[in-house]
Amino acid sequence: MALVDWCRHCGVETRMTEEHLPPKSADNAAPITIYNEVNGELKVLRSYEQGHTIPSLCSDCNGGASKRGLPQAYATWRKDVVAHLGQWAASVQRAFGWDRNDLWLLAKSQTEAFWLPMEHGRGINPRGGVSLHPGRIVRQIIGMILAVQRTRRLRDEHPELIAAYESTGPTSLSGHSIHVALASTGTLAYFTDAVLSVTVNISSQRGPRTKPFWAIIFQPFVIMLCEGASAPVEAARIDTWLSYPDNAIYTKADRKTRYPIAHRGNLLVSFLHSSAGRAPLGEETIV
Ligand SMILES: [Zn+2]
Repeated sequence: MALVDWCRHCGVETRMTEEHLPPKSADNAAPITIYNEVNGELKVLRSYEQGHTIPSLCSDCNGGASKRGLPQAYATWRKDVVAHLGQWAASVQRAFGWDRNDLWLLAKSQTEAFWLPMEHGRGINPRGGVSLHPGRIVRQIIGMILAVQRTRRLRDEHPELIAAYESTGPTSLSGHSIHVALASTGTLAYFTDAVLSVTVNISSQRGPRTKPFWAIIFQPFVIMLCEGASAPVEAARIDTWLSYPDNAIYTKADRKTRYPIAHRGNLLVSFLHSSAGRAPLGEETIV
């Protein structure tokens, strides 16, 4: 029986249901074991029979997201992006004779991320495209970031996040921004509180940054909720997708979005993974 806890979405204290993170429809239904890295050694934390879940939502909130189509929209987007990555990996293989995974090593320079141009809705079916729901995708992402929080800080101090998550019409975040990059490092990871005091000098234009941000890494995405308008690594800003109501889809003109593949030499993900197991982040790493 699930323990009584506080729901990460509505805040009520009740028995929690097991939330699938990432959604079950996004390839999270197979048996999986979570390890935590402590002093360079992997320790088994927990095994799951049917995908990774965490007891973080009440049953109303857990079921509510599916009724709104949020996990389904995220899964469709992920499938589309993975298909695009596969196409690019194949073209890299043809052009250079490299292994497909060498796509991740491409970079314009030592300090700059490689940008993968993509056209929304063209990854799965090049002729017909797919109907992506940017409003639902970004709301699902906000819901996932909130769902992994250990403390009430984000929920209580930033009510605009819940408001944006629950909104079905055009809205925006004030004071925060959401960014997505692509990375092959790690498979799944999330951070249960702000990643504080991180100093990363990623691109030549940006200096060290110590503002708090929150990260989830659900392959192939690195998703960051940041204070202010900029991200600590090169990434595509997607909180603007909140301007789309839940039932809107991209127009032809809206389709072009580019996601950066962080260069491994200055990869934030590598940095975060190297600090896995250290208090007080309390992150879990699935390998
Ligand atoms: Zn709830």
